[in-house]
Amino acid sequence: MRVLILGPQGSGKGTQAARIAETYGVPHVATGDILRSAVADGTELGRRVEPILDRGDLVPDDLMIRLIRECLERVDGFVLDGFPRTVPQVEALDVMLDEIEKPLDVVLLLEVPDDIAVERLLERGAVEHRADDEPEAIRNRLRLYHQLTEAVVEHYRSNGTLVTVAGDQSVEEVWASIEDALTKVRA
Ligand code: AMP
Repeated sequence: MRVLILGPQGSGKGTQAARIAETYGVPHVATGDILRSAVADGTELGRRVEPILDRGDLVPDDLMIRLIRECLERVDGFVLDGFPRTVPQVEALDVMLDEIEKPLDVVLLLEVPDDIAVERLLERGAVEHRADDEPEAIRNRLRLYHQLTEAVVEHYRSNGTLVTVAGDQSVEEVWASIEDALTKVRA
């Protein structure tokens, strides 16, 4: 099973991706988590990306593409979460998956209105104290999503792999819609 999950920050995609990974026994490849653990470990990569993450800006495409290639080469199935976020990233992913002969089975889009996404992120910021869940960084991340990542959504909408799921429901309701979509893919 090779799944890509898209959606704005606060759409609940991290939670749902983790559940897909657990249910279908595939690794959850979450670029945000990989970068945050590099920051926590104080690696060279972590030191380089820390200020970018704190501002809610995007890490340069070439660095992200290299990072994701290393991850995907090592696994067969996966749930990819947080990548691609830009047109150069989606183009690189297409070429890469073609080269390693691991095409995506499905692309899920979790849709939520901005006001709900902001509300959820502010709540998470209060609990987890993530620097990028401060109001200024939240606004920046959602702005970048609309400005850059919506083109990624359109790329998959036009090639027919996109399945849209309403993300402004309870975690269980969203999960039921996702399971339904994944069952159809496997059928
Ligand atoms: P996330 O947890 O997916 O919201 O990612 C947290 C942060 O990591 C983002 O705000 C970006 O700074 C960085 N990041 C994660 N994935 C990417 C990506 N594909 N391209 C650029 N930056 C990324």
